Amino acid sequence: MYAERLDRARARMRELGIDFLLLSTGADLPYLTGYEAMPLERLTMLVVPADADAVLVIPTLEAPRVQEQPGAFELFTWDETDDPIEIVAGLVTGIDPDASSAAIGDHTWARFVLDLQRALPSVEFRRASVVTGPLRVVKDAAEVSALRAAAAVVDAVVAAMRERPFAGRSELEVHRELVERMLAGGHERANFAIVAAGPNAASPHHDPTDRVIEHGDVVLCDFGGTMHGYCSDITRMFVVGDVDPEVRDVYDVLVAAQEAGVRAATVGTTCEAVDAAARAVIVDAGFGELFVHRTGHGIGTEAHEDPYVVAGNTTPLVAGHAFSVEPGIYLPGRFGFRLEDIVVATDAGPERLNHAPRDLAIVH
Ligand code: ZN
Ligand code: ZN
Ligand code: ZN
Repeated sequence: MYAERLDRARARMRELGIDFLLLSTGADLPYLTGYEAMPLERLTMLVVPADADAVLVIPTLEAPRVQEQPGAFELFTWDETDDPIEIVAGLVTGIDPDASSAAIGDHTWARFVLDLQRALPSVEFRRASVVTGPLRVVKDAAEVSALRAAAAVVDAVVAAMRERPFAGRSELEVHRELVERMLAGGHERANFAIVAAGPNAASPHHDPTDRVIEHGDVVLCDFGGTMHGYCSDITRMFVVGDVDPEVRDVYDVLVAAQEAGVRAATVGTTCEAVDAAARAVIVDAGFGELFVHRTGHGIGTEAHEDPYVVAGNTTPLVAGHAFSVEPGIYLPGRFGFRLEDIVVATDAGPERLNHAPRDLAIVH
């Protein structure tokens, strides 16, 4: 699989006239090799020439963590007294003395980029995402299965939380429970768990606090993590005790908006048209100004990646695009709502990966 992905990357490099792909920290390296570089001061870098074998330059002490992929790349270990910049530059000029263009990982630390630019003065550097972006954005069947499995875990967390007491517990206590349940469900890490109660729910990316949840509070829970390298992300709404009719009316608008966004997400529809479909429902209900963010983001090995579901993104959806549909309505000082599912565009229409109930869950 990794050898095949590397071949597709090389084909794209040749199309773009890029001689070398250089990948360090970030999601591109694990996508192409199965190995994730530690964010350390010691350089790890995959050197992919357009027409030769790839080499993973790695500190000797990290090498035991690499699962070798025969046919995909070779290892080149460096010791504490070696200069890894010299090694990478030497590989580049050794393989192609006329190299003039390299694409370097978007999340590579500036210190390494600057040193490599100095060591390779005749090479023009571009972002690696011009090569890897179009590959990573279209998920194959195995990747969709991984996203589906991660989604099933957070769906089960929602089911459990619907039976749990909220009143009397702080946002941070509920946050910790979400994290623990994601890990217990098989996620290798929890990436975030927003718990926002009462007026705090009007702040879309609220950081959980020790505020105690009270009777009558609306509680927004938006959480996700990573399982087998692929991310989950879900938002569900809870209300403690009785629901104010005004709260319910606003929530009904949001459910309709999210449904409209999901239904619009067919192959060939542009990302901005999906955003517009969800937004139109909220605008028509008079809450347009209270929907203060884009409708969604792509998801894969990163929690946020292409394609972004936002006005101005004219990319048409293709089968295998995976993204969130998560409109929100936020009433400053009062309460706020968001409803989020992960959706995959397929030739048979949009497929929701999350199946947790979307109603306003009444909890105690
Ligand atoms: Zn968000
Ligand atoms: Zn989310
Ligand atoms: Zn999201």
